Amino acid sequence: MTVKGDLIVRAPFFMNYNEIQHVVLRHRRWIINKLKYIRSLPYIPEKQFVSGEYFWYLGNTHKLNIVDKQKEKLTFKNGEFYLRSDVRNQAKSVFTNWYKEKTLKMVQEKANFYSAQCSASFKSVKVTSAEKRWGSCSGNNSINFSYRVAMIPIFAIDYIVVHELCHTLEHNHSQSFWNCVIGVIAYYKNAKEWLKRNGYKMHI
Ligand SMILES: [Zn+2]
Repeated sequence: MTVKGDLIVRAPFFMNYNEIQHVVLRHRRWIINKLKYIRSLPYIPEKQFVSGEYFWYLGNTHKLNIVDKQKEKLTFKNGEFYLRSDVRNQAKSVFTNWYKEKTLKMVQEKANFYSAQCSASFKSVKVTSAEKRWGSCSGNNSINFSYRVAMIPIFAIDYIVVHELCHTLEHNHSQSFWNCVIGVIAYYKNAKEWLKRNGYKMHI
């Protein structure tokens, strides 16, 4: 299922068309509901990287200005973004790198802070280019976060970090996993709700 609401079916090469159709039909209720949800979301236009466009940072949108003279490719000051005009053709990667840097600093600090509170120990913290998930925890307890984490409010970042930290203790979503989350962040449902409502807008 794509963000635009198209359905892509991937099947092993040995499956014939009838078998594939059978599997799709068997899951049609789930597919239709999911497609309905995706298509009900407002359309988010692709970023043009022009002055006056808005970008997310810590749960708020901030205006972009294209400027000719500036040392860094991209800066953020007094609540606005400033992108140097000669890097506009690589703006997407400039922004992605900027978000990656901010996300890494934040999740590192928070992982150190919260790991003591939930007696969790992690191997390393990394930032990825993940577009769909916010975070993940590997089998060896390395925790990863999407560069998009810097776009969401601090209280939601706290939840995402605690969620992955608790996965180092419980690699599932069992009741004891949620007890771990609640033990640190009692208001985690507000964060989940914010992400459900706004998460789809957090893209560049
Ligand atoms: Zn999880």
